[in-house]
Formats: sequence, structure tokens, C-alpha cells
Amino acid sequence: MSSLKTAALTALLASIPPAVAAAQNAPAPDPQRAFNYHKQSEAMLQEQARVVSAQALAVLAAHPPSASPSPERLLALFALDALLHDTRLDKSPAFLDAMDALAARVAATLDGPAPTVPLRVIRFYNHGFILQTPSVTLAIDLVRGGKNVINGIDEQPFVSEAAMRRVVERCDALLISHPHNDHADLRVAELFAAAGKPVVAPPGLWEASPSHGAAADVKGRPVAPDAARFAAIAPKLIRPRAADATAPADITLNLPLKNRAVAVRAYPGHQGKVPNNVHAITTPEGKTVLHTGDQDGKGDDLAWLLKIHEQQRVDVFLPQCWMSRLPLVTKGVAPALVLPGHENEMGHTIDHRESWWQSVLRVQNLTAPAILTAWGEHVDIP
Ligand SMILES: [Zn+2]
Repeated sequence: MSSLKTAALTALLASIPPAVAAAQNAPAPDPQRAFNYHKQSEAMLQEQARVVSAQALAVLAAHPPSASPSPERLLALFALDALLHDTRLDKSPAFLDAMDALAARVAATLDGPAPTVPLRVIRFYNHGFILQTPSVTLAIDLVRGGKNVINGIDEQPFVSEAAMRRVVERCDALLISHPHNDHADLRVAELFAAAGKPVVAPPGLWEASPSHGAAADVKGRPVAPDAARFAAIAPKLIRPRAADATAPADITLNLPLKNRAVAVRAYPGHQGKVPNNVHAITTPEGKTVLHTGDQDGKGDDLAWLLKIHEQQRVDVFLPQCWMSRLPLVTKGVAPALVLPGHENEMGHTIDHRESWWQSVLRVQNLTAPAILTAWGEHVDIP
């Protein structure tokens, strides 16, 4: 190997953040190691995924979220897209370790100094966000990802329960938009409920009779796995809107452990025929965040979606990146800032995982500034 190449590789390894290297139990770099993977394609792919991912995170740390991202930041996001669309890496050790590292990073952010701004928006996996303010911490659509987390029947989560527990322990309430596996996680809701923390749920979620709870109902059905778990969680859920609601419902979400209250408006949205709560959350500090879940940007709901700006001021809009008519709906919401979510939902096939590179194109013509975030990043809202 030429000295130039050796120097480049040494620089690359040195750039891997210590926390990431420790999480991977990486041995200290061996100067004699040849880095050969002859006849070990799988091992080569895993190591390559770890190196590329760590380098992308290092670049993102040096180029934090911005409405006018640098070329370096965009390349790092696109590198993550490429990794997450390589299906050979699905459910691989490199991927699963990265998911636990994501949860650990978010827990560390929540453990750090409280934000000095009124609102910090932390990006979790998929369309999950955590709103951290000087007084409260609210989770939206927080899931471990993976198979069947919605009802726990033969579930195969991406994030381990231990890692997720550290995030839940640092949050005061959970809001769930709609009863789909990439937005609702029964075990996560149970962790909130067991700690006496409110869980806001859409109509129907886990309501189906436990007697239906055979594996045949697993796919897309919001059933609880058994009568005991259903009975335990059901009374803890707050359901602000009925399935047939046509008007928004306002509730006050009391956070007993913080002695604080948060105003929540549940707009009566849909994804197809499935009720989907579009939650407007107003923090004690007076910032309002609108999270879409997987709200359709078409159909009857469009009429009120386009008039949200007449109903209330929205400081931060959190739409799913692939919403149809995103520019039109954004105009109707008239937010101060857009933070899209739902990129790279790993339960979907790659045609609908949705990339950050697609989001870059989708936010080009919005009527409000937009900031793309990678999992684990946060944006402070002054
Ligand atoms: Zn979704």
C-alpha cells in the first residue's frame, strides 16, 4: 500500500467517533492488519457499512442541520441513503448496532443540558420526533421499528427494548398518529403507561377484540396480542377524536410527573380510510408543532388542511416526506419551519423507503424554509 493510501486510511479510522467505535466493540487499530476480506464478502460488507456510516455521522456532526445544507452534508445524507437501500444490510449486525446507537445518542441528548431555546426538535427513527423544551419532553410516533412491533406478536424490533427504555424514561408523554406498525409500538406505549405517563392514541388502536388476536390478524391490524395486555393498556390511553370525527378535538394533556400541561389539538385526518390524528401540540413555552402522521394530502381532508393557517399559528411543521401535494399543504399550514420525517422506513421495500435525496428535491419549492435531519440529529428553535 502506498504511503498516501496508508495515510488516508489512518485518517479515516481516526475520524470514527470514539463513542461509535466503542459501541461497536472495535479493537484498537492494528498497524499490521491487512484489511483483507478475501472470500469473506459478508464480513467485508459489514465492516464497510460501519466505516461509511461512522464517516457519514462525523461529516454530519461537522455540518449540522441547516436550511441551506453544505455539499458535504448532502453527500453524507446520500451515503446513508445508499447504505439503507442496500438490502444485503437489512437486519444485519451493523444496522442493528446502529439502531441501538441511535437510541443511546438520543438518550444522551436528553441527558445533556436542557435547551436554552424554547423548543428543541429531536429526530428519531422514521417519523418519530421528540420535542424537548425547558420544561417538558414529548415523544411523537416513537417506535423501535422492525416487524410486528404494533402488537408484539412475533415482533422483531430494530431497537432493543433496553435501549428504547432509556429514551422512554426521559420523555413525559407519547402521542401516536395512527394504527400502523411504523408509527405505533405496543411495547413502547406500555413503557409510558407503566410509568404513569399519558399516551394519546388514535381511534381503534389496539381496540380490536383480543379474541381476534391470532397471527392471521397481525398484518396491519391494531390488535393487542392477548386479553391481559389489552386490558392493561386500554384504560391508560387518551383518545381525543372519534373515528367518524369531522371537527378537530382540543384536549389538555396533563403531565403529572412534571406538574405541567400541554395543549393538544387532534385534527380528524386519514390515511386512506384509516383514521390518522394530525396533532397540533402547543408546549408550555408557547411553541406549536404540527405532526402529520401519514396524513393524505388529498381527499376530503384537504379542505381543512389548507385552512390550518386560519385556525392557528404553526411554528414547526413535521410532515411525512412523501405526502402528496406537500407544497400545497405546506402553503395551507403556513409554518415558520418545515422538518420532514419518514425517510428510510426500513420496513418498506426500497421503492417506498424514501430517501433523503428525494426529500432534497421535494422541499425545493416549499413556501417555508425546510431543514432535513438524519436520525439522532436535533434542531433548536429560537
Ligand atoms: Zn408511515
